[in-house]
Amino acid sequence: MKLGAGISAVVTGGASGLGEAVVRRLSAEGAKVAIFDMNGQRGEILAGELGAVFCKVDVSSDESVAAGFARARKVNGQERILVNCAGIVTGVKTAARDRKSGEVKIFPMADFERVVQINLLGTFRCMAQSAAGMMDAEPLVDGERGVIVNTASVAAQDGQIGQAAYAASKAGVLGMTLPVARDFMTEGIRVNTILPGLFNTPMMASLPDAVREPLAAGVPFPRRLGDPAEYADLVAFMVSNRYINGEAVRLDGAIRLAP
Ligand code: NAD
Repeated sequence: MKLGAGISAVVTGGASGLGEAVVRRLSAEGAKVAIFDMNGQRGEILAGELGAVFCKVDVSSDESVAAGFARARKVNGQERILVNCAGIVTGVKTAARDRKSGEVKIFPMADFERVVQINLLGTFRCMAQSAAGMMDAEPLVDGERGVIVNTASVAAQDGQIGQAAYAASKAGVLGMTLPVARDFMTEGIRVNTILPGLFNTPMMASLPDAVREPLAAGVPFPRRLGDPAEYADLVAFMVSNRYINGEAVRLDGAIRLAP
């Protein structure tokens, strides 16, 4: 997909962190961007700054996502780019039994369902609704109608203590990448996934220092957290390189998380 030239794009979770960096990058490339996010305050400010459209969308709801696409398409036309960044992180460093007190802390089922509902089903929901629209659009170069980039996590492959729900949700995103790319192959829609390591976003800042600092120090090289603009670079590559499809790429400074 040639970036720029007024191409329409939707970025979920676009009000903050990795999604915000993608919104900034796609806007800078000339795309007409719609931000889907629950956070109306940040979303409106960013949209105002960049001349983007903000749609208050909860990716865990079919109706909310449908309303978002309807509004985005009315203003910007059928999106050709969907980048799924909306997500929540849970359960970092809570072992099933506290080693000191002996207290049992099994991750609650309701929380597990919520993580899967947002991170995994939310990604699929947005993909499915977006692809349904892309399929009816005129093909562009090479028969391409659209491109989707999803956000998993390195936790899909090496989740830490307490991350069963988060890791399962992200492993689901990783696992569906190739089959969904194959589902859409006759429609000219490419699907790729990025597995970010540790990026300097509000989500990362919300972790306790005692968790975040050793994590950052453990990045082999470069020895720092990732810059969200580096994430947006890979998104831009996956959008514009027409031969990358059904692929999942770790973007993590070679980190492998210890338990
Ligand atoms: P962030 O918290 O800064 O941004 C996430 C955005 O998603 C927020 O604006 C939030 O309002 C939005 N959101 C949450 N639930 C939503 C819902 N139900 N509907 C719509 N929007 C919703 O987080 P981030 O660090 O930018 O993370 C973005 C994605 O990258 C997430 O999927 C996260 O799991 C993944 N990730 C981040 C890191 C990291 O180091 N920051 C690492 C691995 C994976």
